[in-house]
Amino acid sequence: MSNYNASEFQVLCSPGRLFLQPLWDSLRAREALLLSPFFPAAFSICTYLGCCLPFVLLDVLCPWVPALRRHKIHPDFAPSARQLLPCLAQTLYQHAVFVFPVTLLHWARSPAPLPPEAPGLLELVRHVGCCLLLFDAEFFAWHVLHHRVPWLYRTFHKVHHQNVASFALATQYMSVWELFSLGFFHLLNVTLLECHPLTVLVFNVINIWLSVEDHSGYDFPWSTHRLVPFGCYGGVEHHDLHHSQFNCNFAPYFTHWDKLLGTFRSAHGK
Ligand SMILES: [Zn+2]
Ligand SMILES: [Zn+2]
Repeated sequence: MSNYNASEFQVLCSPGRLFLQPLWDSLRAREALLLSPFFPAAFSICTYLGCCLPFVLLDVLCPWVPALRRHKIHPDFAPSARQLLPCLAQTLYQHAVFVFPVTLLHWARSPAPLPPEAPGLLELVRHVGCCLLLFDAEFFAWHVLHHRVPWLYRTFHKVHHQNVASFALATQYMSVWELFSLGFFHLLNVTLLECHPLTVLVFNVINIWLSVEDHSGYDFPWSTHRLVPFGCYGGVEHHDLHHSQFNCNFAPYFTHWDKLLGTFRSAHGK
């Protein structure tokens, strides 16, 4: 039996929505889980660890599969357990002690019911694209500031630079202030754009995947920077230059802000 009346049914069957409605309906069937106070922090940590896991496995396999080394930007580097475990422990600790209480407060202030309609496909793509561009600009400004002001660098950002050759689990090896700043930009953008909850989830997954890919140490033929044309997107070697040289490539994803403000350095020396 349908839960929708005739006019609602017409809206739900619009071409852009038809694709996402079954997905959204299946998620809404788990509404209690989605609206649970534990969901935001649990989704964030599960997505992050899920994105890191393939690269951790590749690092384990690398000594036995020499072909993999062709895709590593530092072929002779493999993170040791002494590097991996503190990163994992810090991420779990920060999510339990800081992220969960803050998302709990946010949940208590806005326990919004889930809308019955899925977003249109074009609306979702447009909002995710806008969120990524806004996030890129906001983090670029934050990042430049935290490199230009020595106190800010020492107090809040230096910890992220502890691993010069980065690896997937080092992505969120950062101070609580940096983690909250990233979370604030994320929340600000989805709120300003009034994103649908499904769009928020999709943006969250894409944002985490891109940040992990940037730190993974692997440059594959299907890596995002190879799929985005005209050198608009930096990628793993681009961000690796930031980790090794400190004074360039401040934007997390795209290259236009660094090019405009003269801090772009090409990973290929062009
Ligand atoms: Zn930095
Ligand atoms: Zn980094």
